[in-house]
Amino acid sequence: MAVPAENLEPLGGVEPDDAWAEEIRALAAERDAVLLAHNYQLPAIQDVADHVGDSLALSRIAATSDASTIVFCGVHFMAETAKILAPEKTVLIPDARAGCSLADSITADQLRAWKREHPGAAVVSYVNTTAAVKAETDICCTSSNAVDVVASFPPDQEVLFCPDQFLGAHVKRETGRANVHVWAGECHVHAGINGPELAARAAANPSADLYIHPECGCATSALYLAGEGVVPKEKVHILSTSGMVEAARRTSAGTVLVATEVGMLHQLRKAAPSVEFRAVNDRASCRFMKMITPAALLRALREGTDEVHVDPDVAVRARASVQRMIEIGTPGGGE
Ligand code: SF4
Repeated sequence: MAVPAENLEPLGGVEPDDAWAEEIRALAAERDAVLLAHNYQLPAIQDVADHVGDSLALSRIAATSDASTIVFCGVHFMAETAKILAPEKTVLIPDARAGCSLADSITADQLRAWKREHPGAAVVSYVNTTAAVKAETDICCTSSNAVDVVASFPPDQEVLFCPDQFLGAHVKRETGRANVHVWAGECHVHAGINGPELAARAAANPSADLYIHPECGCATSALYLAGEGVVPKEKVHILSTSGMVEAARRTSAGTVLVATEVGMLHQLRKAAPSVEFRAVNDRASCRFMKMITPAALLRALREGTDEVHVDPDVAVRARASVQRMIEIGTPGGGE
């Protein structure tokens, strides 16, 4: 279980200046390491990384990279997913306390008990889950392909969907299936992106577009609310990271409201400096993501910490559920 976000004290004391960036790059070269940074990382971490993207895109890069060490600047389940897909590589996360309240919403024991209550049901898990939960899962999904993944099961087969209740409600509505059971999990950042706030922001900015990046649980409530008609449908763009950056370059809107974790604004502003990008809620910041500080990254590269381990048997079963997802359709995402 992750430490509650309010009790976390990030490792500090290092300024991300040019000398820091140089040392990071030199240490990464010495270690034969590739630096991967999730979109919700601090700007300095994004800027020093080799690749910036969502969790799945980064895990794929981890699997295909020539580097023998992966330094995953993100939260723990993401680094675990990289290890699942690249078991022969050393995977480091700069601070192993960087958990995820959504991934912690369900444990493998809880999922096993739920399966016993519904024998014969298929299990679909959002990628924001631990390796142990993925190992108990038939098919993983992202928000982009969750509807397709659930629809791939025969209509009369029960489906257990976990851990995100907003994404589960969205899937239930889109598939029209009554036999989808949804786990009541959520991300703590959700609370910052609620219906009235989203509607008020959209009403106050009638010419603005609304971008929703669904690859992290913090935006799944916005995804659900957009489907409920809380904001005009034609203004809503549900986009992967790369889609969001491309749309930003093409948009004729002067203002774009972004319903996701605030770290995403950094990449969007870099891509389209003349467009005003505003967070739907500027308090929608994940404290787990911000555990990866300049000091933590420096320590990781100097000391080779914190190494991520996944039990080989768990990794084999977890990998199968991720690979089935990839076979079913476009998982979405990308840099
Ligand atoms: S924003 Fe939410 S879902 Fe994403 S890593 Fe943080 S706690 Fe997990």
